[in-house]
Amino acid sequence: MNRVALITGSTSGIGLGIARHFAENQYNIMFHGLETNGLEIATQIGAKNNVEVAFSNANLMHSNQVEKLVEQTYNTFGRIDVLINNAGIQYVSPIDKFPNEKYEAIIALNMNASFYASKAAWKYMKAQSFGRIINISSVHGLRASEYKTAYVTAKHGVIGMTKVLGLEGAPYNITCNAICPGYVRTPLVEKQIPDQAKSHNMSEEDVITKVMLKKQAVKSFVPIEALADMALLLSKESSSTITGTEFVLDGGWTAQ
Ligand code: NAD
Repeated sequence: MNRVALITGSTSGIGLGIARHFAENQYNIMFHGLETNGLEIATQIGAKNNVEVAFSNANLMHSNQVEKLVEQTYNTFGRIDVLINNAGIQYVSPIDKFPNEKYEAIIALNMNASFYASKAAWKYMKAQSFGRIINISSVHGLRASEYKTAYVTAKHGVIGMTKVLGLEGAPYNITCNAICPGYVRTPLVEKQIPDQAKSHNMSEEDVITKVMLKKQAVKSFVPIEALADMALLLSKESSSTITGTEFVLDGGWTAQ
């Protein structure tokens, strides 16, 4: 029996890398994301690895769509073993110019959607006596950077949520952990470079070396493969006592 993973935001960046790795390890995958070629991505990866896949483009800003995504996963595959709350967005601005709707959107997707998805998956995981919830937080769940009020707030919130779900899941073999990456070169980061250049009044090259990677001791982007390896490890049956905590892949940022 293949285990089943629902990975939000898995048609781009980190989520896609994780989904690919899980498919290579014989998980059936519920792909999800807003990318227009999402179904094509899912189908290709499924065929290549001989695993079952499905795809949804639910907008996770809304609780009912999050719930529908979880139901769709269960109805398609008959179980949900792993839930990876990965979909996320960023917006960078000084607080006095931070648009309220951008703040609310980041809180809705980067934090609230993790709550709604975990809550909806809970009954299935409880019935299976097996569940692995992985929240993709960030080094910004542990540290702050200026101009990122909404993102830092949401990512810190997700770390708190992870601890609570770790405690509540313990009797049912449901674990919940967070992964906290430093900078990973994905479309989300590519989009930030021009915004940060404007906010900091510097060139795009300087944003990468002097702003983004400034706080990492290791001056390179975190490889997506490392995050996928970590997620797979946390999903294993033998990881049942790893719960309520965070795994930091930040090139030494928080060591300082
Ligand atoms: P990405 O932009 O490549 O992918 C984000 C995914 O979220 C996409 O599939 C997109 O379609 C989906 N998404 C966006 N808005 C959505 C919405 N309203 N409803 C449903 N899905 C939506 O980004 P990424 O860099 O791969 O980021 C993935 C996660 O990793 C995010 O939570 C991000 O905060 C976190 N993270 C990224 C970095 C980094 O440096 N890239 C570092 C730390 C944490």
